[in-house]
Amino acid sequence: MQFRPEVYRIPDIPMQPFIDCEEILEYLGNTVSTPAKVRDVIDRSLHKNRLNLQEVATLINATDSESVDLIKEGARELKKKIYGNRIVLFAPLYVGNKCSNDCTYCGFRASNREQVRKTLSQEELVKEIEALEDSGQKRLILVYGEHAEYTPQFIAASVRTAYSVKKGNGEIRRVNINAAPLDIEGFRTVKEAGIGTYQVFQETYHREAYKSYHPRGRKADYDYRLTSLDRAQEAGLDDVGIGALFGLYDWRFEVMALVRHTNHLEACYNVGPHTISFPRIKDASMLHMGDCYFVSDEEFTRLVAILRLAVPYTGMILTAREPARLRNELLQYGVSQIDGGTRIELGSYVEKETNHDLNKGQFLINDDRSLNEIIDELLQQEMLPSFCTACYRLGRTGEHFMEFSVPGFIKRFCTPNAMLTLAEYLVDYAPEGTAERGWKVIEKNMEHLNETVQVEVRDRIEKIKQGTRDLYF
Ligand code: SAM
Ligand code: SF4
Repeated sequence: MQFRPEVYRIPDIPMQPFIDCEEILEYLGNTVSTPAKVRDVIDRSLHKNRLNLQEVATLINATDSESVDLIKEGARELKKKIYGNRIVLFAPLYVGNKCSNDCTYCGFRASNREQVRKTLSQEELVKEIEALEDSGQKRLILVYGEHAEYTPQFIAASVRTAYSVKKGNGEIRRVNINAAPLDIEGFRTVKEAGIGTYQVFQETYHREAYKSYHPRGRKADYDYRLTSLDRAQEAGLDDVGIGALFGLYDWRFEVMALVRHTNHLEACYNVGPHTISFPRIKDASMLHMGDCYFVSDEEFTRLVAILRLAVPYTGMILTAREPARLRNELLQYGVSQIDGGTRIELGSYVEKETNHDLNKGQFLINDDRSLNEIIDELLQQEMLPSFCTACYRLGRTGEHFMEFSVPGFIKRFCTPNAMLTLAEYLVDYAPEGTAERGWKVIEKNMEHLNETVQVEVRDRIEKIKQGTRDLYF
C-alpha cells in the first residue's frame, strides 16, 4: 500500500522529533465539525484510508449526539466488516519492577519506598511461564521497569527462556515486550531473541506536560522517548507498538498525536505501528494524582471509536485495567486484542493470588476474570477467541496491515488460524461447558469459509483431536 503523503510543519525525518504541539492544538481549535462532515470522514475510513489530522479533528470535535452515534456506528461497521469477530488473547508477565525513573503516576517510581522490589529469578520466571501455559496462554508480553539490571541482554535472555519452556502441550509462541526505550544496538539484541512487538508508550505527547510527570531519570528526555521506535526501525525491528496514558493530558490532544506518530512511522519507514494502546490511569501505590484530565467512560468509548476509524489497519489493545463490562462493550468498537487471566504482581501466576496488593503491582487492575472465564464470555457473544501467531512466525510482519489490505486474507488465514488455536485450547484446557460452546462457534465460523478451506480446516481439527499441535496457515 502506498501511504498518502501529508505535509506537517515539522517534516518527517527518521530519528528526529516530529510532534508540533501548537499545530495539533490549532487543528483542534480551528476544525469545525458537522454531521455531514463526520459522514464524509467515516466514509473515507470505511474505504480503508488512514485519516489525516484534519479528519481526526473533525471526529474529535463532533460532540452532538447525532455525530457521536455516527462515529460509534462507523467504528462498529469497520470492525465487523473488516476484522470480523476474532479477538486475540494474551497475558502480561512482569519480570522486574526495579526502576530508576520517577514517573509520578506509576507505583514502580524510584521514590516510592512502599513498593516491594523484585526481579524474577530464572527459576521463578520458568515457574510463571509454566503456570501461564497451564492455563492455555500462547502469547505473552514481558514487562520491565527501567533499571541498569534490565539490559538488552537480560531482556533477550528472558525472551529466550519464555520460548524454551514447554509444559504438557503448552508453549509460548509469541513474546512481545514492554520495556524502556533502547539504543539501536539494544533493539538489535532483543530482535535477535525473536520478539514479536516492542511497545513503548509516550505517556503524554505534550512536551510541557511530559516534563512535569517525568522529573528525573532517563525517561525525563522527551525526544529520546519520542524517537524510540525510529531506533527500533533502524535496527530492523519493524513490529512496534505505540500508546498514550490517558489522564495525563487532554485526551483529544493525545489521540491526534497518536495519529501523527503513526503517519511519522509510515512516512519514514513505510510501515505504521502494529498496535496502539490506550491505557487509562489507575490507582497505584502512593499515587496522588489530580483528576483534571480524567477521561470518563463516555469519552473513553468515543476515543476508542475515533482511533478505530483513524487507523483502520492498526491493532488496538485494551487491557485488564478496565472493568469487564466496559471491555465487553469496547470490543465492538474496534479493539482487536485483550489480555486474559491477568496478574501483575511479580510472581503472582504461580501464587495464584487473587487479592491485589497495591505495593506489589504497578497499578490496580479492574478485570479479574480467569482466561477461561473471558474465553467463555467471548464465545457467548459469538466472538472467536484466537491465539494465532502464524503471521509473525512465517515472516508476514505488519500482519494487521495485511489482514486489512490483502483481499480475502482474513478468510484464508486469520479465521482458520483462530479456529485451529481455539480448537487446541478446547481440547487441552477448556472445561466441558466452554468446550461445548467453543465447538459450536467453530462450526458457525466454518460457514464463512469457502469449501476448499473448510475441508483443510476440518482435516486439521481432526489432527488436533488426535494430538498434533501448532498447525497453521
Ligand atoms: N518501564 C517501562 C516504561 O516506562 O516504558 C515499561 C513500561 S511500564 C512497566 C508499562 C506502562 O504502564 C507505562 O508505559 C504506562 O503507560 C503504564 N502505567 C504506568 N502507571 C500506570 C497507572 N497508574 N495506571 C495505568 N497505567 C500505568
Ligand atoms: Fe519506571 Fe516505567 Fe513506571 Fe516510569 S512507568 S516509573 S519508567 S516502570
